[in-house]
Amino acid sequence: MPNIPDTQPSSEEFKTITENLYKQNLELSVINKTLSLLQELYKISIQNLGSRQISARISETIRSSLNFERVSILRYTAELDSLTQIASAESTRFHVARGDSPSYFDNDSTIENASIHAFFSDPISKNQMGYTEDVSLVWGTYVPKESLLKIISEGHVRSVIAFPLIIEDKVVGTWVSILNRPYTELATYEKKSIESISNVIAVALDKALLYEKLRESNEQLAQSNDRLKELDQLKTEFVSIASHQLRAPITAIKGYASLIIEGSFGEVPEALRGASERIFESSKFMATIIEDFLNITRIEQGHIKYSLEDFNVVSLASRVVEEYQHSAHEKKLGLSLESPKTTIIVHADEGKIKQAITNLVDNAIKYTSAGTIRVVINIVPERNNVQIQVIDTGIGISATDQNRLFQKFSRAKNANNVNVLGTGLGLYVVHEMMKVQGGNVSVFSEGEGKGSTFTLEIPLSEEQKSK
Ligand code: ADP
Repeated sequence: MPNIPDTQPSSEEFKTITENLYKQNLELSVINKTLSLLQELYKISIQNLGSRQISARISETIRSSLNFERVSILRYTAELDSLTQIASAESTRFHVARGDSPSYFDNDSTIENASIHAFFSDPISKNQMGYTEDVSLVWGTYVPKESLLKIISEGHVRSVIAFPLIIEDKVVGTWVSILNRPYTELATYEKKSIESISNVIAVALDKALLYEKLRESNEQLAQSNDRLKELDQLKTEFVSIASHQLRAPITAIKGYASLIIEGSFGEVPEALRGASERIFESSKFMATIIEDFLNITRIEQGHIKYSLEDFNVVSLASRVVEEYQHSAHEKKLGLSLESPKTTIIVHADEGKIKQAITNLVDNAIKYTSAGTIRVVINIVPERNNVQIQVIDTGIGISATDQNRLFQKFSRAKNANNVNVLGTGLGLYVVHEMMKVQGGNVSVFSEGEGKGSTFTLEIPLSEEQKSK
C-alpha cells in the first residue's frame, strides 16, 4: 500500500511552504540573473577593445541588469595614489539630478590620496568592500552640499558600494555602484552575486589593458618600420649615386693599367711591373664591387628590366666557357662543357642568364686551386626546365654556410682562408634574378675541401617542352 499521509497540511503549514517556495524562487531568479549577467560580461571581456570601451560596456550592462542608479569604474595609479574614472553608466533620473555639473561625475575626474580617503581607502588600501549610506563621505569634498542633496533625493541615492579590482595581487582600480536601497537590506545571495562580478571585471580590464599595450607597441613598430623603410630607401639611393660616380674613374684606372701592362706606353720597367699588375687587379676587383652594388640597388628599387625570350642556352654556356678558358688555363684548371644536345631552347632573359653562368664559372675558378671545372647541362622534363651545373673540385662549402650563401654579403668561412677577394654579393644577385625569371639557383657540397656544385634551373621554352 502506498504511504499516503492521512492529514492535509494546515493552513499555517501551507503558508510556510508557499513562503519558502517563493523565497527559493526568488533566490533562483537572482542566481539566474547573475549567471546571465556574468555571461554578458564574459562576452564583453573577450572583445578586442581598449580599457575605456570595455569598462563603459561593463558599467552599462551591470547598471541595467541590477537596476542600480549608477555604476562607474575607476583606475588606481599607485605612484600618484589617485583614482581616475574611466567609465560610468547612470540611470536617467540620476543623470538628470546631477545635471551637467559637477564634472566630478565625468570621465577623467580624479580622487587624490585614494589610500587614505574616507570611503575609497577600504577598496584601495584594505582590499575590502567600501560601503556607506552617508554619501557625503564619498563626494563631500568635491560636490557642494546643495547639489549633493539634490542628487541624493532626485537621483534616489540610498547607499554606495565599492569593490576593489585586483590583478595579480595588486589593486588596479575599483568599481563603484550607487544603489536606490541600503545595501544591508539586500539578501545574502544578492550580495554574493554582486561580489562575484568583481573578478570578471578585473579580468576584462586586465585583458583590455594588455590589448591597449599590444596596440600601442604595434603602432610604434609600424612607425619604426616606416622609418626603417625610408632610411633603407635613402641608403639604396646613396649607394646607387655613389656607385655611378665611382664607375667612370675606376673604368679609366682599369683601362690605363691594362694598357700599361700590355706595353702600349712602351716597355714597363721591371720595378714597375708588379705595381702595375696590382693596380690592374685591384681596379678590376673594385669595378666588380661597383657593378655588384649597382645591381643590388637596381634590384631593390625594382629597376631591373627583364626581357624574356627564347634562346639556345647551350651556345650561350659554351660562349661563357670559351671566355673563361684563358683564366682556367692560367690556374692550370680544366674547364669543359657537357651537354646532351647542341640546342636547348629556354625562355628567359639571355643577358641575365649569361651573367648568372659567368658568375658561377668565375667563382668556380676563384675557389678552386687544382682539378677541373665542368659545366654540365641537362634537361629535366618532369620540371619543364634545364639544369646547368657548375661542378668544381675546389675548397667546398660547409653545410651551415650553404644555407646562407644566397643572402647579401654572405661569404663562407673558408673563403677568407684561401685569400680570394670577394664581397658576398654575386650569388645574391644571381638568386634574385633567377627568381624573377621563374628559375632557381642552388648549391650542393659534401663539405669543406670536397668541391662544390652550383645548379641553375631555367624554364624551357614552350616549343622545347613539347619535344
Ligand atoms: P664573392 O665570391 O664575391 O664573395 P659570391 O656571392 O659570388 O661573392 O659568393 C658568396 C660566397 O660563396 C663566397 O664568398 C664563397 O664563400 C662561396 N662560394 C661561391 N662559389 C664558391 C665555389 N665555387 N666554391 C666554394 N665556395 C664558393
